[in-house]
Parts: sequence; C-alpha cells; structure tokens
Amino acid sequence: RILLTTVLDQYRESLKGIAMTVQDITREVELNEAKSQFISNVSHELRTPLFNIKTYIETLHDYGAELGEQQRREFLQTANNETDRLTRLVNDVLDLSRLESCRIYHFDAVDVAQAIDQTLRNYQLNAKDKGIELIQEIEPKLPPVLGNYDLLLQVFTNLVGNALKFTNAGGKVVIRAYLIENTKTKQSLLRLNSQPLAGKVRIEISDTGMGIDPEHQEKIFGRFFRVENRVHTLEGTGLGLSIVRNIIDKHHSSVHLVSEVGVGTTFWFDLAVFQAAILENPSSVTAA
Ligand code: ADP
Repeated sequence: RILLTTVLDQYRESLKGIAMTVQDITREVELNEAKSQFISNVSHELRTPLFNIKTYIETLHDYGAELGEQQRREFLQTANNETDRLTRLVNDVLDLSRLESCRIYHFDAVDVAQAIDQTLRNYQLNAKDKGIELIQEIEPKLPPVLGNYDLLLQVFTNLVGNALKFTNAGGKVVIRAYLIENTKTKQSLLRLNSQPLAGKVRIEISDTGMGIDPEHQEKIFGRFFRVENRVHTLEGTGLGLSIVRNIIDKHHSSVHLVSEVGVGTTFWFDLAVFQAAILENPSSVTAA
C-alpha cells in the first residue's frame, strides 16, 4: 500500500510537470502567433505607402513632361505625405518593439507639470491652426511622480495629439493633473518594501471631439486598430494607444476612458507619487 501511494505521488508529480510544460508551450505558441500576426500587419501597413510613393514617382518619371505644373506639384506633395506616413509608421513600430523588448527603464522623480508644459508647447501652433483651445489645469504644488520622463512625455504627446486630431474647430482640449489620496481599499500596486505607496496624481486628457462608440472603446488600444470611417481623412498609424497602454502598464497603472459620440472623450490614468525613500531601494523603481 505504501508502495502504491509512493508510485501514485510520483505519478501525480509527473502529471503536474507535464501540465506545466504544456502551459509553457501554449504560452510560447500564443506569443509566437501574436508576433507573426504583428509582423504580417506591419508588412501590410508598410506596403501601402510604399506602393503609393512608387506609383507617383513612376508616373512623374514616365509622364512628367505631359503633366501640367499643378498636377506635378500635387503628385510630389502626395508622395511627400506618404513618405511622412511611412516615417511615422516606422517610428511607432520601433517605439513599440523597443518598449516590448527593453525590460528595464530607469524610474525617477518626474515633474508632471513640466512634461505637460513641454507637450503643450509642441502642440500650441497646431491647436491654433485648427482653431482649438488647448488648456492645462495643473494643481499648484503638485508633487513629483515616480516614472520615466521620456516615456510619460510620449504618453502626453500621443493622447493630446489624438485629442486635437479628433476634435473640430471651435472645440476644446484640456489636460488636467491633480493629487488624489490613496484609500485603504484602493491600494497602489506599486510597493516599497511591501508597503503600498501613498498618494497618486491623476492625469486627464479631455476633448470636445467626435467621441468613441462603446463597441470600439476597448479595441482602440489594439495594434493598428482605427475607427473605420476616419481612416481616410485623418493621418495616423493605429499604434499610438498601444504605445500609451504599454507605457502606463510599465508604470504599474492602467489607462481608462469615458467617451460619448458627438460629445467628447476623456482618457485618464493615475501615477504614484514619488517618495524619496524609494531611492534607498532602487530595485523597486524599475519597471519590467
Ligand atoms: P491613430 O490615432 O494613429 O489612428 P491610435 O492608436 O492613437 O491610432 O488611436 C486608435 C483609434 O482610436 C483612432 O484611429 C481613433 O479612431 C480612436 N481615437 C483615439 N483617440 C481618440 C479621441 N480622443 N477621440 C476620438 N477617437 C479617438
């Protein structure tokens, strides 16, 4: 009987081992499938602007003399726009793959007000051109957050860029930052020596733009997803929000949105307040 129990125990252990291996393989297969899907999407997305550029250049080369001056200019302009689109795509793909492969980012005290200010300075002209009011409402004496400045700058850039892109003239884009307290039930996932960090800064980017249909609200964070009827009129790669989600994940937080079609959209997320004590334990301030 003892022998039988021992054999059974060994058998159970082996089964557990096999189950774990199967799980690992499944995860690996899923990852590989996601990777090939991504590569196939990227190739498809790159091919379109490349094809357009080649067509316009070939036409100019073969029939340039027969075309009028204005048409030649238009063709060159289109080829130039397509080159910009290609550049944006390549940059976004590189950003995303760097985010996915680079496991360690240096986290430090980040002045959110400074990052927002820098973002808005870059967009002020664009907003003026489009007739959109671009406003910041930052709580005075906002404490620094724990994060990576460059990554957060990219989040603000992508979200404010989208807000301006999907809002019409006469609209308004507001970026807010304010302190919220940590409650016991809503503890931060980011911990120092197993103690949850106190306090968070909430960031909101609101627009009075076209809004997002509930059926698309989760999908827009997927790679290359763009709401169908807007694709042809507005430039973009469909990767901006995947990058945002990835970066906010790295900050141990998540992005949320509230939106109503025809009324506007607010994207929001929280960032943990920086505490000087963290510097004594640097291993806790890098993100996987
Ligand atoms: P891109 O802006 O390059 O198309 P994103 O990943 O940044 O790609 O966004 C995906 C899609 O989500 C956009 O194409 C658009 O349809 C929708 N979207 C994003 N931000 C907004 C917004 N502020 N208002 C309305 N729609 C938005």
